[in-house]
Amino acid sequence: MDLSFSEEEESFRLELRRWLEANRDDRASTEFESLDEEVRVLIDWQKKLHNGDWVGVHWPREYGGRGASTVENYILQEEMARAQAPEIIGRIGINLVGPTLIAHGSEEQKVRHLPNILGANEIWCQLFSEPNAGSDLSSLRCRAEREGDEFVINGQKTWTSYAQFADWGILLARTDPQAKKSRGISFLIVDMKAPGVTIRPLRQMTGSDEFNEVFLEDVRVPAANLVGEINRGWQIAQTTLSHERGTSPRQLVIHRILLDALVQLAHDTPRGDGCAADDPVIRQQIARTFAEVEIFKLHNWRTLTQVRRHGKPGPESSLVKLFWSEMSQRLHDTAMEILGPRGLHWNGEPRAAWNGRWMRSYQYYRAATIFAGTSEVQRNIIAQRVLGVPRA
Ligand SMILES: Cc1cc2nc3c(=O)[nH]c(=O)nc-3n(C[C@H](O)[C@H](O)[C@H](O)COP(=O)(O)OP(=O)(O)OC[C@H]3O[C@@H](n4cnc5c(N)ncnc54)[C@H](O)[C@@H]3O)c2cc1C
Repeated sequence: MDLSFSEEEESFRLELRRWLEANRDDRASTEFESLDEEVRVLIDWQKKLHNGDWVGVHWPREYGGRGASTVENYILQEEMARAQAPEIIGRIGINLVGPTLIAHGSEEQKVRHLPNILGANEIWCQLFSEPNAGSDLSSLRCRAEREGDEFVINGQKTWTSYAQFADWGILLARTDPQAKKSRGISFLIVDMKAPGVTIRPLRQMTGSDEFNEVFLEDVRVPAANLVGEINRGWQIAQTTLSHERGTSPRQLVIHRILLDALVQLAHDTPRGDGCAADDPVIRQQIARTFAEVEIFKLHNWRTLTQVRRHGKPGPESSLVKLFWSEMSQRLHDTAMEILGPRGLHWNGEPRAAWNGRWMRSYQYYRAATIFAGTSEVQRNIIAQRVLGVPRA
């Protein structure tokens, strides 16, 4: 087993590291006054990255990528996190829509959309989940009816991240109500500014409202916006969903940073005559976190090997998602235990530890066991598709 990176991969890393050092955008690391301001800054950041040829590196050259390998894309995400550069705003477009259109879209759709995704000229959202169709996505009820050379869409979507900033959305809708569950679903591209689209932001406990309810009333979509064949959208959605899991190099680096911060916090927090780091229970929890971050690295490398050999992550990627999301919550629980009531101080409060970052991060990671498939759903996938346990 060779766990080292090749010479070319190391020189790719070095080139990027130098670029990130030379092009540091200080605004990107500051806290923003509002979500609007954050999105504006992040669009500029993605444009700058794109000019440096660092967006969608794993896309084929003919569609604006660099034809980089999976390992190089992994390195890119690792280096971006190491430099504490922000996540790119167009990540739904880059990570989900692009690969789906490259695999299943018409040439016209690729030419129209792919360059604008890379350059952050247009932002995308994912219109999959509905109020009664999350884990059980194939029971979705949004309808698309063919009328001449258009589809007419009616229904409701929910938890749609960044819909209020999106120009386009990828939508799953039922085109054959008689067909059983996943069979009558189609995959469509929807103009988010079209008449009949209403977006209502949902306020979260972090105070942010980046996700939304989206109502679609008689929204007319050209038939040319159908991706792939009619009623075959479920298969296409599997391509999109497989790109949501896979490896998580960014999370790996973030958790290394969080682990260092946790050790620092334990040393800085007075307890009795000493500090929290003297407490054997806290020491044990930190040691466990250290071991978990190492295990997470190995999970990532195993998935990376799988992708290199077979071209896609496979059901084992559910292990990675399950592991890091639950590990993260344990890490944050330890931080909160050390902080005690001080953990309640956050955003702008002078007593807030780590500039309020612990509380924001704690709240954010509560969602990690829900998005991209809940922990229960990941366990079902692991049981059935990795371990071969029969369905009940
Ligand atoms: C931060 C965040 C961002 C998101 N962004 C988007 C987005 O941009 N676009 C989009 O389409 N969606 C998005 N989602 C929605 C996400 O995909 C769903 O929340 C997720 O699929 C779970 O669906 P649900 O919320 O309807 O919960 P439900 O499916 O109703 O689940 C409720 C509970 O029941 C459990 N459960 C359900 N089925 C089973 C089963 N078969 N076996 C065992 N337990 C089960 C679940 O694990 C969960 O605990 C986002 C979610 C979050 C948290």
